[in-house]
Amino acid sequence: MLLLSRLDETISVCYRHGLYPEAARAAEKACKIAGETYGPDHRSAAVYANNAARMRKAQAQSCLPSGQDQKEASREPGGGKRRLRPAFGVAAVLALALFVTAGFAQRANVPAETAQPVYAAASDVEELNMPFYHIEADFDPASQLVEGEEEVIFMCREPVEEVKFNLYMNRYQDSSLDSSEVRRYAMRNGQDTGYIEIEDVTYNGETVYFEVKGETLRVAPGSGGFLRGEHALMIKFRVKIPNIADRVGGTKEGIWLGNWLPVLSADNRENRPTEIGDPFVNMSSTYEFRFSVPEDFNLVLSNTNNVQQKAGRKIYTGVLERVRDLPVFLNRGYRKAVAKEGETEVNYYYYSSDSRPEEVLAAARKALAFFNENVGQYPWQQLNIVENDMFLNGMEYSTMILISKGTSRGNLSNTVFHEVAHQWFYNIVGSDQYNAPYIDEGLVEFFTSYAQSGRVPGYTGEAGGLYRSLDSFGSWQDYRNVHYRNGRKLFEQLYVILGKNEFENFIKEYYDRYKFGFVSATEFRMILDGKLREEQVRKLLD
Ligand SMILES: [Zn+2]
Repeated sequence: MLLLSRLDETISVCYRHGLYPEAARAAEKACKIAGETYGPDHRSAAVYANNAARMRKAQAQSCLPSGQDQKEASREPGGGKRRLRPAFGVAAVLALALFVTAGFAQRANVPAETAQPVYAAASDVEELNMPFYHIEADFDPASQLVEGEEEVIFMCREPVEEVKFNLYMNRYQDSSLDSSEVRRYAMRNGQDTGYIEIEDVTYNGETVYFEVKGETLRVAPGSGGFLRGEHALMIKFRVKIPNIADRVGGTKEGIWLGNWLPVLSADNRENRPTEIGDPFVNMSSTYEFRFSVPEDFNLVLSNTNNVQQKAGRKIYTGVLERVRDLPVFLNRGYRKAVAKEGETEVNYYYYSSDSRPEEVLAAARKALAFFNENVGQYPWQQLNIVENDMFLNGMEYSTMILISKGTSRGNLSNTVFHEVAHQWFYNIVGSDQYNAPYIDEGLVEFFTSYAQSGRVPGYTGEAGGLYRSLDSFGSWQDYRNVHYRNGRKLFEQLYVILGKNEFENFIKEYYDRYKFGFVSATEFRMILDGKLREEQVRKLLD
C-alpha cells in the first residue's frame, strides 16, 4: 500500500534524525490506516501498533526540543560558505556532516539503545552529508613518527559548546586494558605502546582551547562554542607508531595502521575503550590525502591516484570517499600478488614462508563476487589484504583487511571470507559495534558459514545474550560465543522464518537503505519488527 510505505519511510527517516514527535505522529497515522485497512487483529496492524508505541516511548525518553528546529537545520545544510570544495568530481555534498551534537549532549542519561540517531542513513547521505578530512602526513622511519595536519569540516545541526574526537592511538598506553592474551601477545617485544599527541588546534585561523584525556580530544572554542552550521578545524598531530603486533603495529618489513587519525566522535561522547571486541564506531567520511614516505618505502592506501618522487621521498595523493577510516600500510620488502574481480583490484601483500597468495586471492574474489551479487556493489577501486603477525586472525578496515600469518592454514579461506564480508557489514553498512556487535558479526558469520559451504540454514533454537554490550565481557571466548555464534543463529532463524527469497530481498534492501549510514540496536529492532511477530522479535533479541 503506497500510503503506508510512504509513512514507513517518514517514520524511519524522522526516527533516525531524532525527530521523535514527527516519527510518533507518522506512526500513529500508519497505525490507524493499517487498523482500518486490515482489521485490528491482522498481523500488519499489530506491527504498526507496536511501532507507534515504540515511537511514543522514544519521544518520551528524549529531552530534545521539538523536532522543528532540527528540521529547519537540515533544510539549510552548511549555513554558510564551503571552505573546501574538492575538485575531483565527488558529490558536492560531501564537505558537510550530520552531527547532532547538542541533542546528544542533552540526552546523555538516556540508555544507549535509545540515544543513537546522530548518524546518516543511506537515503539521507545526499541531504545530510558527511565529515570531510583533508590530511597531510609524513612518515619518518628513524623516529617511527607520522607527523601531520588534518583539516576537518563538519556541520553542527545545533549549537554546541565543544566537539570531541577519538584518539584511538592512545589505546596501548592504557594499562588497564592489558589483561587479555591478545595484549600480552601484542606487547611481547616490550611495552612500546606508541601514542598520538595533539600539538595544536586552530579554528578560524586561531589556536583554540583543547584538552587530551586518554582517547578523547575535546575542542572548545569558547564564547558561544560552535554555532549551528558548518565549521572547519585544523589539527596538528604526531603519531608514534607502537612496536606491537595487534590491529595496529609493525615489523621490520611493514607497518599497518588503522584508526590512527583523530576522528570526530560519532555521538560526541567520551570514548569508552574496551579490551574485548571492536570498540570503534566511526561515521562514513571522505578523506583527501597527501602522504609522504622515504623513497625506499611503499605506501598502500586505496584510491591513491598519484605518486610523485621529490627530494628522496615519495608523495602519494588521492581521495577516498565514504569510508569509516583511512587505513594505511607502509612497507619495504613485502611481496605483492594481484587479482581482479569485476572492476575491483585485489592486492595481497605478504611476507611469510607460508602466505598462500593463490588461496587468499581466490577466497577474496569469491567473497567479492558473492556479496556483489547477493548484497550490493563493492564501492571502492581496491581491496588490499595485508599479512601480518597479530594475535587476532583477521581485522577489517574500509578497503583494507589484515590477515595474521598465525591464522590456521586449514581455516585461511574462511578467515579471508569473513574479513571481506565485513566490507559490507560494518564498513559499508555501519552498525553499532559497541552496543550491538551481533549485527555485523552475526551477519558475517552467517554468510561465511552458508555461502562457503552451500548448506541451507535450519537452526531454530535460542540465540541469547545479544543485548550485552562490549563492556560486559571479560573474555574473548565469552564475547565470541554470544555475538559471533548466537549472532549467526539470529540470522539463521530469520532465514528460516522468512524463507530463502524473502531473506535474500531483506539483505538487499538492508544494504540499499543503510549503505554508508548506521544501524543502531534500536533501528535493527525496528527492522525486525517490520518483518516478524512481536514474540518472535522478543525471542531473538531479549
Ligand atoms: Zn568479524
